[in-house]
Amino acid sequence: MNTLELHSLNKSYGAHKALDNVSLSVPSGSRTVIVGPSGSGKTTLLRMIAGFEFPDSGRLSLNGQTLVDSTHEVPAHQRLIGYVPQDGALFPHMTVAANIGFGLSIKGQEKHERVAQLMDSVALDSTMAARWPHELSGGQQQRVALARALAQRPRLMLLDEPFSALDTGLRAVMRKMVARLLEDAGVTTILVTHDQSEALSFADQLAVMRHGRLVQSGHPLDLYRYPEDEQTALFLGDAVVMPARIEAGWAHCDLGRIPVNNHRNNHSAQIMLRPEQLQLASVLPDDTGVAGCRAKVIDRDFSGNTCTLTVELQPRAPDQPIGRSLLVRSSGMYAPPAGSAVQVSTIGHAHVLSEP
Ligand code: ADP
Ligand code: MG
Repeated sequence: MNTLELHSLNKSYGAHKALDNVSLSVPSGSRTVIVGPSGSGKTTLLRMIAGFEFPDSGRLSLNGQTLVDSTHEVPAHQRLIGYVPQDGALFPHMTVAANIGFGLSIKGQEKHERVAQLMDSVALDSTMAARWPHELSGGQQQRVALARALAQRPRLMLLDEPFSALDTGLRAVMRKMVARLLEDAGVTTILVTHDQSEALSFADQLAVMRHGRLVQSGHPLDLYRYPEDEQTALFLGDAVVMPARIEAGWAHCDLGRIPVNNHRNNHSAQIMLRPEQLQLASVLPDDTGVAGCRAKVIDRDFSGNTCTLTVELQPRAPDQPIGRSLLVRSSGMYAPPAGSAVQVSTIGHAHVLSEP
């Protein structure tokens, strides 16, 4: 039940393909996040699910009921889908209470109580009921928009970049609150965002969108560790990407020999490691016999609890050129300063990327 199925959805605006053969299954009760850069088609896809936009071809169904196909279209107001658009879109000439109660068919005391209950569920103080939208902060406006959408008891909730207007601290708090709220209400949710850390944190299913196509979907941790290609790898976080020769489960590369999660043999490929998979140990000046890769710290970017270091691999023989630069994540307080000689080792498997 409550499974949303997208089958080969296509949509063009003139010559521009906004959605290109999009297929996805959204399980009941899941929090699915669609992440992609600006212009990749996220809003178009949400508007299509809500019923404000129609595909050129493809099919969309919810709980086995066809919402759209080549012969049939269920209008937006009959879909029981909640939609919070990118800008929240509150009615500026209505109070908070009137905005939230807008679509309710009940009246009088019953309506008053339902609105109060909805405000409470999104942690809005009851004294705000009489305020106007312009008297609210960005976070409060978002919560009113969410309460208004929840008022319809939707089968599915669509959230378009709901936290983008909020500052970093409030964003994380709102994200947790909204996730809990929707989970308690048992509402299947699709959230779209261009923010990768928000996507990784909110999702139990993550789908990456690029140029109108869903390029990869799955559990956030799997996508972070096993991205299909370099672009997806870099979109989801910092990555160290380098050429390697793959042989019998090992990658031979500038960092030496690293186990890989993919056993295609005897071929050249790009491999990827996340910066937190690289570890540094300090090297004493007279220490000549160390195994592994020697490197020098050339830059240190301190950001509190973590520190991103740029290290340059040292030539293995005097006649070799200076090696490649790598990003390494280290704990903020104990990171070696720029200029330090270090030894680089790796943790876990390297991931073999697909050819572009
Ligand atoms: P996102 O939400 O990922 O930023 P959108 O879905 O808003 O992307 O837009 C995807 C592409 O489709 C963009 O290039 C945008 O300019 C185009 N587009 C969206 N809506 C329309 C429209 N109504 N008419 C013409 N082009 C549109
Ligand atoms: Mg958008």
